Amino acid sequence: TAPEGDYNHPFFALQMPVVLENSGKIDPEKIEDYIAVGGYQQLYHVLHEMTPEEVVKEITISGLRGRGGGGYPTGLKWATVAKMPNEQKYVVCNADEGDPGAFMDRSVLESDPHRIIEGMAIAAYAVGANEGYIYVRAEYPLAIARLQKAIQQAKRKDLLGTQIFDSLFDFKVEIRVGAGAFVCGEETALIASIEGKRGNPTPRPPYPAQSGLWGSPTLINNVETFASVVPIIRQGGTWYSSIGTATSKGTKVFALTGKVQNTGLIEVPMGTTIRQIVMEMGGGVTDNAQVKAVQTGGPSGGCIPFELFDTPVDYESLRELGTMMGSGGMIVIDEDTNMVGLARFYMEFCRGETCGKCIPCRTGTVQLYQMLTKILNGEATEKDLQALRHLSEMVKATSLCGLGQTAPNPVLSTLKYFENEYQELLKV
Ligand code: SF4
Repeated sequence: TAPEGDYNHPFFALQMPVVLENSGKIDPEKIEDYIAVGGYQQLYHVLHEMTPEEVVKEITISGLRGRGGGGYPTGLKWATVAKMPNEQKYVVCNADEGDPGAFMDRSVLESDPHRIIEGMAIAAYAVGANEGYIYVRAEYPLAIARLQKAIQQAKRKDLLGTQIFDSLFDFKVEIRVGAGAFVCGEETALIASIEGKRGNPTPRPPYPAQSGLWGSPTLINNVETFASVVPIIRQGGTWYSSIGTATSKGTKVFALTGKVQNTGLIEVPMGTTIRQIVMEMGGGVTDNAQVKAVQTGGPSGGCIPFELFDTPVDYESLRELGTMMGSGGMIVIDEDTNMVGLARFYMEFCRGETCGKCIPCRTGTVQLYQMLTKILNGEATEKDLQALRHLSEMVKATSLCGLGQTAPNPVLSTLKYFENEYQELLKV
């Protein structure tokens, strides 16, 4: 766990709390605490002093990109929904965090639920929506309870409902509890699930921004993205865009876990290197072992070997290495971990979570899992390794949604950086 009390330690000193600025400081069950630190002032500000277009412009200037993993420009998404002529529009908060080892969204919801409600209300005003849903997984009972309480408190203070702050803006929010399917984090599956259907993805276009919930334009952002809205409105898009790198602005929350001395939630400016996070903040690995790699992006991402730890965390740099930012899981791996076993662990996860709608993902993940098992059992040949690579590329290229398109990433990235570990297991 984090080095308690020593706030000069890099674990704390290198952090930049923007999303987590209130976490641990306010009582999340008291709206008065949130209001005392300036809560709901930005909603008042936009309703009385900004047009919806100005709000969208501020988010665009900030350079904020979707924190759910894809990195799509948030301002562009908001502008697309805002431009749709429909009277009925929706705002949805994706709180279906499902990566093994990730707990960023859960912590934000549990420690600062009103910030999500305020961020969603500002977004709704900007895009012209009056209804919102928070889709949160059932495995997060405390987050659900605190959100329910926060919504009730906000209603009682007329911060949700009709004519908020004596304006013409109405907004209501409901919680939808997901049953824990990983695929429901995918936007179209999430929409189907809210509508009461089976959580299966559908082809895009149409994108949810054009035709989402019940066929209406729908803005979907994840928890961390909505949590970034209030500070951006308060301090300005230009301020936010001054943090981070040329293409990845602001801060990012990571869940630092695995074989590392100091585990926990951290928030750092984009551009911080993996080395700073794992070696300085995390304090290196436990039990005097050697660091081998770090896995980012969970089952959709890949590993970064120790030699490449000077890589900055930003969307493009991680993609160039064959991994992805993902929602923020960062799992440290030491020399005792076999990378083929790691790849099989993630494939087992995807095999269990595939919705089964399209063949490449439904049967591909099963086949890949079997191939990895064959290698681990010492029964595979060079030909099997080639087949593993070939099938991984095929599943990536032909699957319908993000789950299948990214499921082979842990295999491909371990093959890229640790092929020797595969070779060592082959039959001679
Ligand atoms: Fe379902 Fe996988 Fe196809 Fe996505 S890629 S639609 S999860 S079977």
